Amino acid sequence: MSLNILFAAKSERWTEYEPHLRHWMAEAGLEGRLAPDLGPAEEIDYIIYAPNSGLLDFTPYTRLKAVLSLWAGVEDIVDNETLRVPLTRMVDNGLTEGMVEWVLGQVLRHHLGLDHMRAQQSGAWVPRVPPLARNRPVTVLGLGALGAACAQALAALNFPVTGWSRSPKTVEGVTCLSGPEGLEQALARASILVLLLPLTPGTDTLLNAAHLDQVPRGAVLINPGRGQLVDDEALLDALESGHIAHATLDVFRTEPLPPEHPFWAHPAVTVSPHVASETRAETASWVIIENIRRDVAGLPLNHVVDRQRGY
Ligand code: NAP
Repeated sequence: MSLNILFAAKSERWTEYEPHLRHWMAEAGLEGRLAPDLGPAEEIDYIIYAPNSGLLDFTPYTRLKAVLSLWAGVEDIVDNETLRVPLTRMVDNGLTEGMVEWVLGQVLRHHLGLDHMRAQQSGAWVPRVPPLARNRPVTVLGLGALGAACAQALAALNFPVTGWSRSPKTVEGVTCLSGPEGLEQALARASILVLLLPLTPGTDTLLNAAHLDQVPRGAVLINPGRGQLVDDEALLDALESGHIAHATLDVFRTEPLPPEHPFWAHPAVTVSPHVASETRAETASWVIIENIRRDVAGLPLNHVVDRQRGY
């Protein structure tokens, strides 16, 4: 069977992805055309997709079998009513490794007080010994592909880790909670709070004033999930009062973060320009082609988005 696979992502990504996608197509024995422009929409079988490609109307793609997202977060496409075929999201070792490294780095920065050390470098010898990880409880909201991996990596460093998800979960070395009462407990334990939830109607502005209030005074917030998970005004208030000691934010309600946004100049905010983890062509190309191979072979697709649930 000869396939037509459309690469619908920012044009600069094509040169990066093309050799890897072609390599894995050949390995999988898949034949056909693969390009960012393939002519008539009604001849396309699969779309490799990024929401910032500009493709929003799937109506003309009458032969389409699936849309394969290069992104883990699918909030920009999940409600698209013109999309009537399965949508898969990105779950990939490279993406997970990147997130684990970023989260561990941010947690250790705050845990070890690295900023304080640098700020104290004025000739005064002021030792401030950090507690052991075993005495620094970390909470991870979201125990999916990324949250569970981060929670386990933190637990491996001896942090007491609590994780929270929609449905009950078991993650080795992690105290797993779920549901509204689980959230209350998870927040109450967080001396460092990591957000790795998807953006859905159920998680939108989850970290509001009331929930921020449930976090112990002096806690640190690390958000590589989505900006809309957090009420910005409530966070700024919590930072002003010292209830939250620092926020390291990788994602924002508006990206790029507007120059006038108070997060930029706030001394207790670290702005990270949505770089916590990027989908890597090197590893993600196999994930995409493997899914097409499975579909062609009549096997179920991996990582299908539940459109009702929103992730
Ligand atoms: P995932 O595998 O779909 O996991 C999502 C987790 O969130 C699951 O544990 C899920 O619970 C939980 N969850 C969803 N809705 C919930 C709710 N209403 N209440 C409680 N828990 C809820 O997602 P992932 O691959 O780990 O990715 C998570 C998010 O990270 C993505 O959606 C994206 O927004 C973000 N991300 C950011 C970057 C970056 O560079 N900053 C990179 C990649 C991804 P269940 O386990 O019960 O389903």
